[in-house]
Amino acid sequence: MNQEIQIAFPKGISLTIKREDLIHPFVSGNKFRKLKYNLFQAKAEHQETLLTFGGAFSNHIAAVAYAGKEQGFRTIGIIRGEELFDKIEENPTLKFAQENGMQFEFVTREEYRDKNEDFFIEKLKDKFGDFYLVPEGGTNELAVKGCEEILTKEDAIFDFVCCAVGTGGTISGLINSALPNQKILGFPALKGDFLTDEIRIFAKKDNWDLISDYHFGGYGKVNLELIEFINTFFEETKVPLDPIYTGKMVFGVIDLIHKNYFPEHSRILLIHTGGLQGIAGMNIKLKQKKLPILKSNG
Ligand SMILES: *Cc1c(COP(=O)(O)O)cnc(C)c1O
Repeated sequence: MNQEIQIAFPKGISLTIKREDLIHPFVSGNKFRKLKYNLFQAKAEHQETLLTFGGAFSNHIAAVAYAGKEQGFRTIGIIRGEELFDKIEENPTLKFAQENGMQFEFVTREEYRDKNEDFFIEKLKDKFGDFYLVPEGGTNELAVKGCEEILTKEDAIFDFVCCAVGTGGTISGLINSALPNQKILGFPALKGDFLTDEIRIFAKKDNWDLISDYHFGGYGKVNLELIEFINTFFEETKVPLDPIYTGKMVFGVIDLIHKNYFPEHSRILLIHTGGLQGIAGMNIKLKQKKLPILKSNG
């Protein structure tokens, strides 16, 4: 569903937001898209178990737990941080995943780094039996195929399509399905310049750019300016944004409008990839730091 943002911008620029967050209250819209063809594939391979990786507040972990349960899979989450094993009750993401049947294996940060190594996967197979492996963040070729379905015919009117970037799967799908005259802008939620190469693996065109000035210090980092922006945006538009991905992206787009980045009368489509399940966990951290908390519907 596309919703026009009722804020007046300079130069006749208009913003519309695609509410992928409304696909599910807890499961990020883009994570559902990324899982769709992977779950078909797991079924085709007669797999009964999904195994994946993630951090303590991972939207992907929540999505795999929920979608796995819906589709009748056993799910196993390899979680970064062995100290979390007795903190499930106080972590809204892990609690949600567990309530949806996910079994956890908590590993140290060093072990977690080996997540793509054969010996590590073999060890997990010894322990849990055979499984369908969903990579961290869910990005692979089938995930990109799912994300190619985000844009539809009605989106042909837009000049720019903007999204948050984590592993690059979502933007790759958008790039592949965009029209030649449309430009895709990705706003990385983390530091580092490896993403361009990642995206080139899956993306078949050059109609895109990464804008790396809006990660706010790195993955999961926030400051007062970002929190206040998200809360003001929510008050003005009734659209809740998450602090890890979509909040930073929308902040970036509006900042660029005011810095004259976009031509006159640009029609900009923002992809709301969801992530709202992460707000509860972030609010716990914000309270500890005595910062204002994030507002949202939930
Ligand atoms: C995972 C996630 C992203 C990033 O998607 P990638 O395909 O990993 O780039 C963006 N927004 C939200 C809300 C997410 O959960």
